[in-house]
Amino acid sequence: MRRITLLLVVSLSACDTGAFVTADDWVPTNPSLRDSAQTFQQVSRAVGAAARAECRRQTKGQNCNFGILIELDPFAEPNAFQTLDENGRPFIIFTQSMIKSTQNADEMAFVMGHEAAHHILGHIARQVKNAEEGARIFGELAEARGEDAAGIEKAQELGAEVGIQSYTKDFELEADQMGTQITYSAGYNPLVGMAYFNRIPDPGDRFLASHPPHAKRIEVVLNTAGQLGLTQ
Ligand SMILES: [Zn+2]
Repeated sequence: MRRITLLLVVSLSACDTGAFVTADDWVPTNPSLRDSAQTFQQVSRAVGAAARAECRRQTKGQNCNFGILIELDPFAEPNAFQTLDENGRPFIIFTQSMIKSTQNADEMAFVMGHEAAHHILGHIARQVKNAEEGARIFGELAEARGEDAAGIEKAQELGAEVGIQSYTKDFELEADQMGTQITYSAGYNPLVGMAYFNRIPDPGDRFLASHPPHAKRIEVVLNTAGQLGLTQ
């Protein structure tokens, strides 16, 4: 549950307090990030346009007006994620250390395309639904066992977590597939971009890992790229 709450709570109001800045307005205080900032701005425009087009093609009535933001805290962990503001507008947020950890424009585009795909595929709403469903089932089982209110609440929390975990790997692979297409439409090479996997720890086949093993993700990217006529 913790992760969902975080995703849904991050909103434009945080922007007003100066925690985030749009990609176009970003002037890094760290001089070593100036070149990356320029590349990031170009990638944001191209991937933003490709993501909007894909979103309009794939969805009906969904907000496709992607905003791309930078987390201003220079010490925030390497991370990129997708969120929604209170009006349902999608935002893709990169931390500065995340941008620093990418090696080229293709990797930035690949990560951005993946995050955009999470929105187009409606993953936040689907995760909330899975969490609610898990909480309901576990809560009812606890009630049937005759647990007290605290026991039922605990079971609901666990159920929500299980509900989220059961689909998260599928969601990642779906986002890798559509993200590969968006990266390509934006004019970048997903086969170069996917080298980013080499720089993040491989969760392997652990049951409770939130992400699929790299081998599985690479296979999805290779298949999708092959359909687009791209070869290594
Ligand atoms: Zn993801």
